[in-house]
Amino acid sequence: MAALDATWRVVWLGTARGDNDIDAAIALVRPELVAIDAPPGLPERRCCAERDCACARFGILRAVDRGIAAAGYRVYPSLQPPMVGLPLRGARLWARLDAAGVPVLEVFPGMTQDRLRLPRKQADLAGLERGCDGWACAGCRARGASRTTSWTP
Ligand SMILES: [Zn+2]
Repeated sequence: MAALDATWRVVWLGTARGDNDIDAAIALVRPELVAIDAPPGLPERRCCAERDCACARFGILRAVDRGIAAAGYRVYPSLQPPMVGLPLRGARLWARLDAAGVPVLEVFPGMTQDRLRLPRKQADLAGLERGCDGWACAGCRARGASRTTSWTP
């Protein structure tokens, strides 16, 4: 998790291992907006993620995913077997944040990296860090953004 200030500088970094950690981070940072790398729900017209449900005929891609794929970017279908839990978790998380009055938006870090011509972390982590230093998170390491790896008080 990362918190950015009004100038898009990273001012805090942390690791969340569950909803309680996320709630603690929200209480600590009190964000004006939360960006999540998870879909906010199932593909359109899907009532569930079950493969044998009648709704399965509507597919495993959301309209936004089809648009991204049409633009030439790699998309992981929301309901592809390894990803099935992600939209369900995303929907729960969005609902929790919405109930807390925190605006939420979905982000696509990999696609953003592609657009910014930054390497993916699996391909070149050092290159990604160097590239990030030239973008919004410039100064993150130099300014010593507070960092925690645990929420245990
Ligand atoms: Zn269904």
